[in-house]
Amino acid sequence: MMMDFDEKSRQHQLKITPQRTAIFKILTTARNHPTADNVYQEVKTEFPNISFDTVNRTLLTFAEVGMIEVIESNGHCRRFEPNLKTHHHFYCVGCGEITDFFHKEYDNLEIPENISRRFHVTGKRMVIKGLCDKCI
Ligand SMILES: [Zn+2]
Ligand SMILES: [Zn+2]
Repeated sequence: MMMDFDEKSRQHQLKITPQRTAIFKILTTARNHPTADNVYQEVKTEFPNISFDTVNRTLLTFAEVGMIEVIESNGHCRRFEPNLKTHHHFYCVGCGEITDFFHKEYDNLEIPENISRRFHVTGKRMVIKGLCDKCI
């Protein structure tokens, strides 16, 4: 995964810095679609002088070049998605936790014609909402 990072950075002409490497590492080990603040809190333990703004900008840069994704946030903070494999989400409306799941049938769902005719589709993801087992 980290070799991946170096390679992708070169590909997108991003400078490789220890801070950026640390941020990417945090993202790839994050379990729950972290916010910029989640990442900031963690990277700060290693780089106490890093600013929130730097972390936030780095995340947006990663997203811009397609190394990670930004996901719909339902009115909360922007969340970051390091998992670029096709997958779907269970969104808990209670605590905001987003759980990844895989389901072939959803992967194979066809794009409605009124969408595919009007827009250029680059991906699709099913979102199921409800209460997680901790919030029921
Ligand atoms: Zn919950
Ligand atoms: Zn996900």
